[in-house]
Amino acid sequence: MDFRLTDEQQMFYDTVRRFALAELAEGAAARANLDAYPWDIAEKFAKMGLLGITIPEADGGIGGGLVNAILAIQAVAEVCPRSGDVIQAANFGPVRTFAEFANSEQKERFLGRVLAGKSLISLGMTEPEAGSAVTDLKTNATPDGDGFRVNGTKVFGTHSTEAEVFLIYLRYGPGVGGIGSVLIERDTPGFAIGKPSTFMNGETWSQLYFDNVYVPRENVLLGAGGFKKQIAGFNVERLGNSARALAVGRHAFNLARDHAAQRHQFGRALCEFQGLQWKFAEMAVKLESANLMLMRAAVNGEDGLPSAQDTAMAKLACNEAGFFAANESVQILGGLGFSEESTAQYCLRRTRGWMIAGGSIEILKNRIAEGIFERRFSQRAPQQMATK
Ligand SMILES: Cc1cc2nc3c(=O)[nH]c(=O)nc-3n(C[C@H](O)[C@H](O)[C@H](O)COP(=O)(O)OP(=O)(O)OC[C@H]3O[C@@H](n4cnc5c(N)ncnc54)[C@H](O)[C@@H]3O)c2cc1C
Repeated sequence: MDFRLTDEQQMFYDTVRRFALAELAEGAAARANLDAYPWDIAEKFAKMGLLGITIPEADGGIGGGLVNAILAIQAVAEVCPRSGDVIQAANFGPVRTFAEFANSEQKERFLGRVLAGKSLISLGMTEPEAGSAVTDLKTNATPDGDGFRVNGTKVFGTHSTEAEVFLIYLRYGPGVGGIGSVLIERDTPGFAIGKPSTFMNGETWSQLYFDNVYVPRENVLLGAGGFKKQIAGFNVERLGNSARALAVGRHAFNLARDHAAQRHQFGRALCEFQGLQWKFAEMAVKLESANLMLMRAAVNGEDGLPSAQDTAMAKLACNEAGFFAANESVQILGGLGFSEESTAQYCLRRTRGWMIAGGSIEILKNRIAEGIFERRFSQRAPQQMATK
């Protein structure tokens, strides 16, 4: 067993980190408080080969591994938390599920602009009545000529206010087996995008309305029976969320460490107070152990998609460690950390969201328990179990 990165991985991390320090450190706080997607950063990253790291070269990607993609998100988000979102969007988000299951014609139509940092794909999974119980989704596709008519509503989609393409989970028929997905472009007739709303982390989202939207067969990503495949692809997105939570927690931790080493109260440096030293020790242990779980999930998934159990454990550990570190760091930074001039408050708001998004910590724990007991625990009320 070897816990070190390979020479190539270390070199890759160091290169991205040097670039981030030179180009992204300045302005990190301003970027964090900006609502709009940082398109300028996306185009820079595209030129550097940081978009599509895990996507095959034949599809326009870099053809690297999941570990490198995790290292890229860490090297960037540890320096500029907001810029980590760009690495997520073009490596781990719905783009990864898309690249895994799209046919060559679909890739040709949609992938190039995303990997060039000019377009975003938004994932439409959650509905007003189907959150954690995602298989309760009602958005449906009914056959019409050589395509389908789609009706339904989606909420909370990341990048839904700016995306050009939407990867929409829907049902072709009843039950889990009836679920699949389609691609819907922003300007499609019958597709309406509601007024933007803002999460406490600063991200905006819009409710999506599908009113008899015609979707040609060429825009079907996965037909009925595709749900398991989609969730397998979604595990990559979860690892991206995990990596960002950890990196953003580390960013806050580093701010707090530097502050505690320099700031004096009662005639002593803050780091000399044992009450604060223990906070640093707890943060360091949580961040380091979560990183080991994250890397294990990435290494095990290097040649395909990561396992559900590894992913659930990594995401839980990273979400909790990142939030814990960000929260304690704000405390250590005092009023300064709670002010918008500091990225610490942003880290706290960001890490909080990932405890809900992409599988809440409770749902992850349910999944982990299933792995432990090697059996499924239905969350459904007994009378529903026969039908869902
Ligand atoms: C920052 C952010 C980004 C998001 N991005 C997207 C996106 O891009 N696309 C998209 O489709 N959705 C997105 N979502 C939505 C997200 O997936 C849902 O918010 C999440 O699945 C929870 O659903 P819900 O909000 O309806 O809460 P509910 O499902 O109503 O759950 C409420 C609470 O009950 C708990 N709970 C529910 N069931 C159980 C159970 N069986 N056991 C224990 N506890 C339970 C939950 O953990 C939660 O704490 C995003 C959300 C956030 C916050």
